[in-house]
Amino acid sequence: MNIVLLGPPGAGKGTVAALLKKELDVPHISTGDIFRENIKNGTELGKKVESIMASGALVPDDVTVELVKDRLSKDDVKNGYILDGFPRTIAQAEALSFFADIDAAVCFVLSDEEIIKRLSGRRICKSTGKIYHIVSNPPKVDGIDDETGEPLIQRDDDKPEAIKHRLEVYQASTAPLIEYYSGKGLLKNIDASVSPEEVLASVVAALKA
Ligand code: AMP
Repeated sequence: MNIVLLGPPGAGKGTVAALLKKELDVPHISTGDIFRENIKNGTELGKKVESIMASGALVPDDVTVELVKDRLSKDDVKNGYILDGFPRTIAQAEALSFFADIDAAVCFVLSDEEIIKRLSGRRICKSTGKIYHIVSNPPKVDGIDDETGEPLIQRDDDKPEAIKHRLEVYQASTAPLIEYYSGKGLLKNIDASVSPEEVLASVVAALKA
């Protein structure tokens, strides 16, 4: 099954995708994670996107589409995949339709107030990508990753100015995808205000329905 996860930043797509990946036994492809990995490794792509990402703006469509097209040409996606953070514009969705057959678009629904709370409290371990929240999912020791003992970081784009910009970008460029996939009969709305395990259960039920 080829699945697209839609919804605002901070709605829990990455967290739930990590659980859903195990449930469905298919790869979780996050364009944001791929860009962050490139920034960490100092690649040409990483250098190109670093300042764009830090501001909360979108990486140009052609760069992102090429990246996903390449990723979906690999063998491990034969039995399906979860796309997280892509497409993010109508142009990306249209490009995707030329090289992929999407079976479902799952939209994580969450209020702006809750999004801001989640994003501003989010902390991550840079080397493993593990996600924490200072209130709802804190590490055992304040500011330290449970497994590696490394200090947790706040993503540059989780800082207040960037959050504001990301929400504006979401409304302007990404929210229209809800209509786009609804028109194709593929949209499944999910209440994302509950725990990751509960969201996972709703997603699995919606995919079976
Ligand atoms: P995410 O981890 O999905 O929140 O993505 C973090 C950032 O990566 C976004 O704010 C964008 O700057 C960039 N990004 C990720 N996916 C895309 C995409 N499909 N199109 C454009 N930019 C993207």
